Amino acid sequence: MKAINFAVLFVGSASAIIESIDPSCGFIDAFLINSAITDAITVATDAGTQLSTFTPFAASLDDPRVAIYDPLFNPGDLQTIIGYLNSIKNIKTTGYKVRFYCQGSSGRIEWTTDPDTNQPAWFDTDFYHNAQPDQKRSIRVGSIPNAKPLGSWTKNDPTMFLGLMECNLGWTVNDNFDSSNQAHIQLAQKTIDGTRLQTDNRDFADVRSGGLLTGTNFNVLDYIRPLSRTILHELFHVVGGLDANNKPIVIDVPNPNASPPRNYGTFNECMSQKNAPVSTVRQAECLTMLAAGLYLDQIQGKPAFWSVGVVDTTTLQPVSLPAAGSAAVQARAMAPFRVRGSYWG
Ligand SMILES: [Zn+2]
Repeated sequence: MKAINFAVLFVGSASAIIESIDPSCGFIDAFLINSAITDAITVATDAGTQLSTFTPFAASLDDPRVAIYDPLFNPGDLQTIIGYLNSIKNIKTTGYKVRFYCQGSSGRIEWTTDPDTNQPAWFDTDFYHNAQPDQKRSIRVGSIPNAKPLGSWTKNDPTMFLGLMECNLGWTVNDNFDSSNQAHIQLAQKTIDGTRLQTDNRDFADVRSGGLLTGTNFNVLDYIRPLSRTILHELFHVVGGLDANNKPIVIDVPNPNASPPRNYGTFNECMSQKNAPVSTVRQAECLTMLAAGLYLDQIQGKPAFWSVGVVDTTTLQPVSLPAAGSAAVQARAMAPFRVRGSYWG
């Protein structure tokens, strides 16, 4: 009887927006994820508010919004970004059905034959018909960030889904199966735990109110990496939605020069992608970088200038202007932008 009540309760709550955290995550992980969702929405809300009154070329160099926006995005990206940020701000009330999974819940991913190609592939088995939630359907995994190219995933690699972040989106398959607005987000345990020593793992709200830590690289935006940063990244995939071919619009782009393989995502890499074929407005990590930099453009009440992704811990002015000929300067040449107090290059 208890189980039936739970099932009824679950169906009844299917319209809630951050729909659920998979029970296999456990109590502590669920608490951490919920706290991080709150932090991510706080950052998106603040960033959206800031951009709603921002005019890229008209803004003063003394405006910290210029410092984070100019290096990473073009003026024409602004309205799209504001739209994404508003969607994340309102994600609990606007019809999205986002479900979070932890390492222990990767069993929903199954290796089975794709009826379209007759070839085996990985499928996410946990989507359901919006009008009839007990009707399940598998959707081919297609948007996992790519530690490996899609074609190299094989059944014989059991670890592939355990250490990775992943976001799958549902869609309307036909009249009989509509899983649109459903999104599944897989989180890696080490990210949930927030115990990595090389990064500042505090929530963005704590960094903003408490100030930057003095440890190595903790004045570098790349190294401020709470769980909420990952959740924000995944939510950009969600609100980016799908194109006419059901391909995600906000994606991750593999960096061919990275070893081990990973996607573009550092501040300098995002600069280099500003005018790439898949530009930063379509790259989840670059959108996340902007939102984080906008939220952290005030730290303990003082403006912070993230023009180069690094600030002086005390003055919050840009530091570490890269050397002539460096990759960062080459990136800057591809994507000219203004740096407060110094036109560099
Ligand atoms: Zn991603």
